[in-house]
Amino acid sequence: MPDSTSGLPALAISATGLTKTYAASKKMPAKQALKGVDLAVPRGSVFGLLGPNGAGKSTFINILAGLVNKTSGAVSVWGIDADRNPREARAALGVVPQEINMDPFFTPRETLELMAGFYGVPSSERRTDEILDALGLGDKKHAYVRQLSGGMKRRLMVAKAMVHSPPILILDEPTAGVDVELRRSLWEYVRKLNAQGVTIVLTTHYLEEAQEMCDEIAIINHGQVIACEPTHKLLRRLNHKTLVVRPEQGLDAVPAALADLAPTIRKDGQLAITYRIGEQSIEGLLSRLREARVGISDLATEEPDLEDVFVSLTSA
Ligand code: ADP
Ligand code: MG
Repeated sequence: MPDSTSGLPALAISATGLTKTYAASKKMPAKQALKGVDLAVPRGSVFGLLGPNGAGKSTFINILAGLVNKTSGAVSVWGIDADRNPREARAALGVVPQEINMDPFFTPRETLELMAGFYGVPSSERRTDEILDALGLGDKKHAYVRQLSGGMKRRLMVAKAMVHSPPILILDEPTAGVDVELRRSLWEYVRKLNAQGVTIVLTTHYLEEAQEMCDEIAIINHGQVIACEPTHKLLRRLNHKTLVVRPEQGLDAVPAALADLAPTIRKDGQLAITYRIGEQSIEGLLSRLREARVGISDLATEEPDLEDVFVSLTSA
């Protein structure tokens, strides 16, 4: 639905009931990669699609980009139905694919000019040099692509996606295998674009990265969205730690006095108590253990990782 004042769509991207089944090929068996995905990306947000390898992230992105045909469902981009107006819908997107692919015999400047031509951007409206400068490629614009470092190639991929000034930029695992320096400059550029009103969608399997960059996070696992919330809400749910203690005497069962904390006894005999930060303190838990007469010979705390997140979300 368009915004009544700006005339712009409220949602940059919306997908409903999206499924994808890859047919078996010589290289790969048949696979249902998406199993009915509903996603709504608000205009102006930095939206994270978070999930482990094989979850279906690239499949989703590649359907948007028109590189993979969906099996069923509907997609609209910038309020444009991708089945009815595929070219128009695609023109609203700049997509940086997971794999670096470019012609090694062109210079960065030529690469961008070709891309702008491909999108039909008239010469007078091209921003080739501005984009190269913004991505720190200004002094490499006449070098051959094959002479660029991996990080520079990655930046050139982003530049290529921006030549037609799309209102939505999609980055598929932009920092996989990328050094810290490049990561920082890439995020700086992405933030700047977002401040200018560009909606950003990025996929990652790093929880921390999604946490740092995204206003909203969808978690996808085995082709299904298992959570989609503003980051601060999601984090509140994940805001837990586990206290692991080695009792002085082996425990046969969880002491009744601790039942409300729902501890578990691990195979190695350690007692694990998962607690919410803010609701409980280590101090408090230790005195509960003392009251329950559990002697402690050793203790440690564990932070939740993505795996725990999935476990807690899928078992909820
Ligand atoms: P992600 O990007 O989250 O790592 P993908 O979308 O690349 O996940 O893959 C989702 C699932 O689909 C994986 O199990 C993958 O092996 C499978 N897959 C991806 N591409 C193909 C293909 N062309 N043929 C068959 N299976 C595929
Ligand atoms: Mg992928």
